[in-house]
Amino acid sequence: MKDIAANLKQIKDELPASCTLVAVSKTKPAADIMTAYSQNHRDFGENKVQELTQKAEELPKDIRWHMIGHLQSNKVKYIAPFVYLIHGVDSLKLLREINKQGQKLNRVINCLLQIHIASEDSKFGFDEADLMEIIKSEEIKEFSFIKITGLMGMATLTKDEDKIRQEFKSLKRLFEAFKAFQSENFVMQTLSTGMSGDYKIALEENSNMIRVGSAIFGKRDY
Ligand SMILES: *Cc1c(COP(=O)(O)O)cnc(C)c1O
Repeated sequence: MKDIAANLKQIKDELPASCTLVAVSKTKPAADIMTAYSQNHRDFGENKVQELTQKAEELPKDIRWHMIGHLQSNKVKYIAPFVYLIHGVDSLKLLREINKQGQKLNRVINCLLQIHIASEDSKFGFDEADLMEIIKSEEIKEFSFIKITGLMGMATLTKDEDKIRQEFKSLKRLFEAFKAFQSENFVMQTLSTGMSGDYKIALEENSNMIRVGSAIFGKRDY
């Protein structure tokens, strides 16, 4: 049996006040989102542009929508008017496009840079060297319609908790190190790590934004 309200409350009770819970509602119906919404939850995450725009249109306007999936440059325009935070920014090309769409709307769009911390090849994200290059580039300073507010990472899908912990630690180290490069549109404020299977470890390793789906809404069928 699924009990979204109870699951949500249980997780929220475990969180320090400084941590934001993004309820990952991908593949789940609007009614499930409304159950969480009626418990005063406002942060929801989706990983597909079409599903995200459809739900945003249908559901209350005070929901803060988080784009957590891989985002293609040609789809930025669909979410740029309303998205609260884009978690998975993993290329300079994408940053350029987000800035361009933000400029058209005269809206500053919040982004997290996705860092590759897992050992799997399939996970998207910058490595440390790419990231340094971007941070030090002159171009980024001119992106006045983007605000980079932190980093996002996904740990390896494994039962080895020590490995997951090490990956979260390495991301936290980068997060701290990049504070030396802060500027008006680059601040290290949000560290988005942790999902249903590993958010407890993420919290111990100082995550301040977790993205939890199945532990709230139940298993996804597809
Ligand atoms: C689906 C997804 C989550 C949530 O996964 P659960 O294991 O269901 O909690 C978190 N982050 C990203 C990027 C996702 O795609």
